Amino acid sequence: MSQINWKEKATALRQAGIDGRAFVNGQRVPAIDGETFDCISPIDGSKLTDAARCKKADVDAAVKVARAAFEDGRWAHLSPKKRKEILIKFADLIVANAHELAVTETLDMGKPVSNALAVDVSAAQNTVRWFGEAIDKVYDEVAPTPRDSLALITREPVGVVAAVVPWNYPLLMTSWKIAPALATGNSVILKPSEKSPLTALRLAELALEAGIPAGVFNVLPGYGHEAGAALAEHMDVDCIAFTGSTAVGKRIMSAAANSNLKRAWMELGGKSPNIVFADAPNLDEAAAAAAGSVFYNQGESCNAPTRLYVEASIKDEFMAKVATYVASFTPADPLEGNTTMGAIVDDIQMNSVLKYIESGKTEGAELIAGGSRTRAETGGYYIEPTIFVAKPHMTIVREEIFGPVLSAMSFETEAEAIALANDTEYGLQAAVWTRDISKAHRVARAIKAGTVHVNQYNDDDITVPFGGYKQSGNGRDKSLHALDKYTELKTTWIKIDY
Ligand code: NAD
Repeated sequence: MSQINWKEKATALRQAGIDGRAFVNGQRVPAIDGETFDCISPIDGSKLTDAARCKKADVDAAVKVARAAFEDGRWAHLSPKKRKEILIKFADLIVANAHELAVTETLDMGKPVSNALAVDVSAAQNTVRWFGEAIDKVYDEVAPTPRDSLALITREPVGVVAAVVPWNYPLLMTSWKIAPALATGNSVILKPSEKSPLTALRLAELALEAGIPAGVFNVLPGYGHEAGAALAEHMDVDCIAFTGSTAVGKRIMSAAANSNLKRAWMELGGKSPNIVFADAPNLDEAAAAAAGSVFYNQGESCNAPTRLYVEASIKDEFMAKVATYVASFTPADPLEGNTTMGAIVDDIQMNSVLKYIESGKTEGAELIAGGSRTRAETGGYYIEPTIFVAKPHMTIVREEIFGPVLSAMSFETEAEAIALANDTEYGLQAAVWTRDISKAHRVARAIKAGTVHVNQYNDDDITVPFGGYKQSGNGRDKSLHALDKYTELKTTWIKIDY
């Protein structure tokens, strides 16, 4: 990694000019009214490019294009085997352009370029490849009906899918939506976040190059209240797949219900608990994971276990260990290959995180690491990894901060740990550390969350579903279960005994 001169690549990319125009019907186009918004790099606050500020008129035009592409079957009617071949070529093109995609992601969003390459680009291509590979291996069903009849249960694409995604993993969130939607034959209109639209636009070009027909995958940069809301309200969008905050998810569900009752799938916020019992198999590993899974990606991860509950008998020893891992996450220039913590996505998000840190201080939480903005002289937006010892009622424990802030607390009994873990409106993920297998299963069953990790936090794979209970959303991304979001089940009854 260290041999690659990422700064040189970034400079070359900027000098060549980064295209922020929309991608509709296989072409780069400006917004219909010509308006743009600034793409700012969080690394140093400099302007990267102008992006098309798409609004309702652009959404209307893109929906017409996507509808036509769907109805004439240029993609939906291809055999699954053919769609597979094209999606695999798309994945290969992501790999061939991996360095450019990684640098663009880092410039636009601020994450360390080594992570952008090894995790985001790698997982994005793998997601596209996996759903491509899967789609000609999914069989339809025949129901167990009487002999004189036959009932076929087949999956059909829903039609025009709108996908609205956040800024924290722009490539990855895009691929989680578009791969299963495209594999099942839908047309897609993706709205990336206004804070990081650039890699999704480049993906659309690569999809076209791979052979996905024009009009099938369109990308509209723009603001949520403009392009996003217009997609959610549109009468000719069949499904909206959203990843983002719970507050916006509620707005989108209500727009979906009040328009054409489009299918609305939600992957929302989290405030995940991490329970460490005194009999954890390896306290060093547990401490490394407690810090690493919160500070990775600058803390901008929906599944970060930001509420740490440590059994009282080991709390001081364990927190001393956690604090030592803070040094592995010193904010630095994300274009340096060995940087482990980059910039917060923009000044708005940075100020929001700093406000939460202030609330922790004023509500009486004990600050044991970090707590400040850093590297301000660069013009970029950096925050130190921050650890509080807190109390369950505090704002920093109750609300999603979406920044590098860990709140630690203690518990005395298993029942208390479960009650504290479930004392949240969210239910995305959780972790439990113990060498007692019965206790691990009891706690895993009792926690209301879509994923529970036992004695690790990092295991992840495209084969397992990702999504939440409670106000963390509905439906699941990844795995074959994701196909349910983008398909209708059709029953065809056939009378045989004529
Ligand atoms: P956000 O809700 O502010 O924005 C997400 C997307 O919705 C953006 O593209 C935005 O432009 C758009 N949007 C905003 N208002 C809209 C509206 N009224 N109608 C339609 N679209 C609108 O979230 P964010 O700040 O981009 O991302 C952070 C949030 O995403 C956190 O809450 C995080 O937990 C969540 N997240 C969840 C998952 C998951 O899989 N559960 C993954 C990543 C992020």
